[in-house]
Amino acid sequence: MVKLNKCSFCGRSQFEVKRLIAGDDGVFICDQCVAMCMDALSQEFSDFMRRKEPVNEPKLTVVDPQQQSEIFKFNCKTPADIKGMLDEYVIGQETAKKTLSVAVYNHYKRLSSEGIAETGRKRKIPEDLRDVEVEKSNILFIGPTGCGKTLLARTLAKALDVPFAIADATTLTEAGYVGEDVENIILRLIQAADYNVKKAECGIVYVDEIDKIGRTTENISISRDVSGEGVQQALLKMLEGTICNVPPKGGRKHPEQEYIKVDTRNILFICGGAFSDLDKIVKERIGKKVLGFNVENDEQFKEKSENILHFLQAEDLIKFGLIPEFVGRLPAVSVLDNLTKEDLKMVLLSTKNAMIKQYAKLLAMDGIKLTVTDDAIDEITEQAIKMKTGARALRSTLEALMLDIMYNAPKQGDVEEVVIDRAVFLKEVEPIFVKRQSSDIFTGTAVLD
Ligand code: ADP
Repeated sequence: MVKLNKCSFCGRSQFEVKRLIAGDDGVFICDQCVAMCMDALSQEFSDFMRRKEPVNEPKLTVVDPQQQSEIFKFNCKTPADIKGMLDEYVIGQETAKKTLSVAVYNHYKRLSSEGIAETGRKRKIPEDLRDVEVEKSNILFIGPTGCGKTLLARTLAKALDVPFAIADATTLTEAGYVGEDVENIILRLIQAADYNVKKAECGIVYVDEIDKIGRTTENISISRDVSGEGVQQALLKMLEGTICNVPPKGGRKHPEQEYIKVDTRNILFICGGAFSDLDKIVKERIGKKVLGFNVENDEQFKEKSENILHFLQAEDLIKFGLIPEFVGRLPAVSVLDNLTKEDLKMVLLSTKNAMIKQYAKLLAMDGIKLTVTDDAIDEITEQAIKMKTGARALRSTLEALMLDIMYNAPKQGDVEEVVIDRAVFLKEVEPIFVKRQSSDIFTGTAVLD
């Protein structure tokens, strides 16, 4: 006997309707029920569209009430404490560290005055100052690639135990263009805070490559708004403090979507960029001859403190292409210097997470000691300086150097020490493996395989 299929919604049989669509497990829906559903949905959609400002009325706010009452504990006593923590991981960049420490300290005092954070020091504020509103002081880092801009922001977030997100300004575009909405930056922060919106609202965001959204930037992407100004305007709102509607799954916003509502008033924004050619603008302003020498060819000048960007003023940034309001929202400007050879040596050897220490730890897990001689360190840093990508060059150079060693050393159960000297680094000889219970030194490939 032929089985009679029926619509699971209205009960009509296949002979009473035009179409019967089958689902899984013997479930069916008829054309008439589908039409009814379409009507209902399109009505809801057009109601939604008719509302005045649909995007400002988020349907969903992911806030756990228990988390909402959480008060932020600020575990630093003074700006010097903050700088002390940064010193452990970041070499040089003294002014930037100071600027950052003071800005963050003030930021937490601001949060404390709003009852959001506890700073540990509570003093009575005179009556006449109680109503004074302290403005947020976002930070702008200007410095060449690989000098520690991201590292500073990352270290700070780690030290303070606050949610931290990194965004790349070049991927951001004005609404309507191909790319990311600025709200996605905040989404990353929410994710870093495990969807605790209150915690995210006190977090730190590092926006890298901020110089690439300058109005006059030459390499404008065709997928971005032509001037770059739209992105600056959108970012500006977030920097100032706004309630922004964050799509929980990222991507482009659209009217039917549900949003997470986030107040950005207390989020600290640190923007960073290399701002190449900004020095030319500064030079032009102050007059090239003032310094009395040709700065472009002077190695000493390039190496350290006489960085012309230290004479930077807001008007130079505006000339570079940042809109005045945007510059105004980044009052704490800090210029970072190129790392010198001595700095690079310290990056390799002395910080808490120094690169050589990291490899030493990895090898120690195999019971192998790593020794890098002074002449090797000299050569590595010299080559890094030539590559002009700051400490980033160190990482890539070391990766290339260590690959074979990390591959071969564990194979040898009896290796006690690996020695890298200048000749090994220059690949003139094979890495030196010192065998356990023997003072003999022999080259790796001679014994491996
Ligand atoms: P950028 O200035 O381009 O943001 P990063 O901060 O990302 O550079 O630096 C890349 C890497 O180089 C860091 O992860 C770190 O290992 C190293 N580094 C850069 N600058 C410093 C510094 N001043 N002190 C210690 N390490 C540094």
